[in-house]
Amino acid sequence: MLSDDVITALGATGAKLTPQASLTRKAYWKCGGPAELLVEVKTLAQLQGVMAVVDRVTVLGRGSNALIHDAGISGVVLLLKGELAALEIAEDHAWVGAGMKLNALLNRLDQAGMAGAEPFSGVPGTMGGAVVMNAGTRLGEAKDRIESVEVVLPGGAVVTLTAEECGFSYRHSALPAGAVVSRAKIALSPDPDGARMVQREGFLVRRKATQPLDKPSCGSTFTNPEGDSAGRLLDACGLKGHRIGGAVISELHANFFLNDGGASSEELRQLIVHARRVVYQQTGVLLRPEVKLLGDWGPDPLGVDEGCADSVQPG
Ligand SMILES: Cc1cc2nc3c(=O)[nH]c(=O)nc-3n(C[C@H](O)[C@H](O)[C@H](O)COP(=O)(O)OP(=O)(O)OC[C@H]3O[C@@H](n4cnc5c(N)ncnc54)[C@H](O)[C@@H]3O)c2cc1C
Repeated sequence: MLSDDVITALGATGAKLTPQASLTRKAYWKCGGPAELLVEVKTLAQLQGVMAVVDRVTVLGRGSNALIHDAGISGVVLLLKGELAALEIAEDHAWVGAGMKLNALLNRLDQAGMAGAEPFSGVPGTMGGAVVMNAGTRLGEAKDRIESVEVVLPGGAVVTLTAEECGFSYRHSALPAGAVVSRAKIALSPDPDGARMVQREGFLVRRKATQPLDKPSCGSTFTNPEGDSAGRLLDACGLKGHRIGGAVISELHANFFLNDGGASSEELRQLIVHARRVVYQQTGVLLRPEVKLLGDWGPDPLGVDEGCADSVQPG
């Protein structure tokens, strides 16, 4: 519970505070409980001020890779707006505010006749979420375009990290503990005749045909194991259409777990654990969840650390 003194100090930063703010519409899965205190920051100074007051925050981008606990998130939930969601385009690079939506970034670069954000085509997150997740597609990954990342550390210090210092790997980064991404510098190149835009459009048409985009999901629930695809394994194990309450595994793409109406976050969690266990029992492959759990879930809610110890061993 945040104390009155802490809330007063947070208010003094100029950030907008909303207690017990619903997050349901702010998360792609459309479930989960409220934020104890939603804090909207619009400037770097406000963000530094917040980080000087509290030692732990939960940042919410577009919630397109986040499963929020049904009881909500205790403490401060940060939304990055204003100058922290702005774009500055230079000749061969751009500084992208962490709160900027990736589709807006792509549109703005198209208008400017510049290429550089293609890896984010069809990824519905923010720049900050893309850094943290090293988001990517067949057109590349965040790490291919990022030159440096500005973060605010607990206490309020601003640090600029090289791409190497971000520790990027497949759908993963290793930023300093508790760091909030404030902006990222990405490399740009001229695209005067829109060739990359045309390539992207073809890519998006294929995605629309193969992904269930009409129901709430978080995209891929699991990362692809080396040399295979999580969707193929889940399908081969007969999991398409498997349902727990309102949570169901898509018939179109088995790595998409859908809120089919009224699903709770707990139902989605149970479906993830079940699918992971079945795949392990039938194939021996331990899938790694891509989705991030936000809120107070307790230790290892997806059973990742314990593996699938209580499963029947394969073979
Ligand atoms: C339909 C659909 C398709 C998708 N397709 C793809 C795809 O092709 N490729 C892909 O990589 N992903 C894909 N995703 C997943 C998702 O869009 C990406 O992981 C995206 O990068 C998440 O960004 P976000 O802003 O929504 O982050 P959130 O979901 O809000 O947050 C994700 C994590 O990042 C943290 N975070 C967010 N912003 C910051 C910040 N500024 N500072 C510190 N921490 C932060 C959060 O606390 C959380 O731990 C898809 C999702 C959907 C719903």
